[in-house]
Amino acid sequence: MSAAPPRVLTVAGSDSGGGAGIQADLKTMLALGVHGMSVLTAVTAQNSVGVQGAWPLPVEAVRAQYRSVVDDIGVQAVKTGMLASAELVRTVADLLAGTGAPVVVDPVGVSKHGDALLAESALDSLRTRLLPVATVATPNLDEVAQLTGLRVESEEQLRPAAEAVLEFGPRWVLIKGGHLAGDAVDLLTDGTEEHWLRAPRHDNRHTHGTGCTLASALAARLALGDAVPEAARAAKTYVTGAIEAGFPLGAGIGPVDHAW
Ligand code: PLP
Repeated sequence: MSAAPPRVLTVAGSDSGGGAGIQADLKTMLALGVHGMSVLTAVTAQNSVGVQGAWPLPVEAVRAQYRSVVDDIGVQAVKTGMLASAELVRTVADLLAGTGAPVVVDPVGVSKHGDALLAESALDSLRTRLLPVATVATPNLDEVAQLTGLRVESEEQLRPAAEAVLEFGPRWVLIKGGHLAGDAVDLLTDGTEEHWLRAPRHDNRHTHGTGCTLASALAARLALGDAVPEAARAAKTYVTGAIEAGFPLGAGIGPVDHAW
């Protein structure tokens, strides 16, 4: 018998193609040596070319999964991903307000294929209810624009955008600048400290699940005891390796590889 590893919970949607969502989260957690658990918020019919359908689960089903996990097993870190509706955002925010564990909020809005994973009407609850309970929020540039109205087009614009996201109340923000030209540069800040995370751009279009993977790796490292800046660096290293190793699958965009 071995000792129990730290326990990490993902509260997110299912990707039937296995590239993003809950599936990417659990693979990341396995790779980083923590025990992954899941509260499913929505089911998507999804593959390498897009999202063909999405069905949010009832609020009671989300609450019940969370209680089952927390009451018996306990969590050392939580990651949230696709939350689909305003009602689910508020439900999850209320549940997480009571956890003492660090919370990584990936404010998932739209998939790489342009499919909406969050209702427009949920943005306000995301800003006012969920972001205030986040230890770290991990928006990409599209999500920054959705949340703040700011369009980031250069590295210099990352700082003001980060400050605007911090206004909503997360302790830290990690803005993913991967959609800018040049190196993949992210900015992690709590408004006082600033950490620039830089990786060379890899010429690999098979990047499905990058955001889920980064946020899950960050939560896993926090559960293992890292402080936020160390956890973010380790997560960036992990996702960079997974992007380099991403492979073709189906007719569209393949997934990052967790077994790199
Ligand atoms: N599907 C689900 C269920 C997700 O949670 C996410 C992202 O968080 C995606 C799809 C989008 O993945 P990507 O933008 O990497 O294609």
